[in-house]
This record gives sequence, structure tokens and C-alpha cells, in this order.
Amino acid sequence: MVFRFGFQNANKATQECPCGFYNHPEKDCVCAPGVVQKYLNKISGPLLDRIDLHVEVTLVNFTELASTERNNLIRERVIKAREIQDKRFLDKEELHCNAQMSPKMVRKVCQISEAGTIY
Ligand SMILES: [Zn+2]
Repeated sequence: MVFRFGFQNANKATQECPCGFYNHPEKDCVCAPGVVQKYLNKISGPLLDRIDLHVEVTLVNFTELASTERNNLIRERVIKAREIQDKRFLDKEELHCNAQMSPKMVRKVCQISEAGTIY
């Protein structure tokens, strides 16, 4: 079994329905029943076959997303994570972040707990 640790962000280039408000947290979709599914069926099978993981997400409120307080908390977490990675890769000049680790190194660094191996 081979795990690839890079991933591609398959950003959905289409709306989920013609009006663009399907699954919108604040606005109502005005499309007739069945129109959404018909619209989604227009995405080609070969394109869908190339996407391993499909995750439906709702729109994020811009004000919440742009919150300075929230961003500062995220920034602190990123800085702490980078510090941990700096220590982890101290003797490996070519590595700077977890995404650059080889599968062998991931197995060494990312030990799965016994509870995590049940499934
Ligand atoms: Zn709609």
C-alpha cells in the first residue's frame, strides 16, 4: 500500500445549482426540485473519477473568516507547529515541513496509537 502525502485541491469550479444558492447558510435556493441533481449530473464522469474525496462545505461568513482575533490564534498555532517541525528537521537541511517527509519518515514520526489501529 502506498500513501501519497501531497494532495491536489480540486476546487470546485461550478456552483451546485443554476442559482448558486444550494446549501447556502443564509439564502434560499430557488431551483425547482430535481434541477440540482440534473445540474450535478453534468459534471463529467472522467472528471469525478479523478477526485478521490468529495467533501461538501457550506459558505463561510466573510466577517468571521477575516476576523483578526481568529487569524491571530491560527497564526500562533502555525508558528508553534513550524517550531516543532524546525526541531524535527534540525539535522535534515532539505526538509522544512511535514509534507516533505518520506513515507519511511512518516512511519517513524507519526506513530499510530493502539486505539487508532482498531479500524
Ligand atoms: Zn439553486
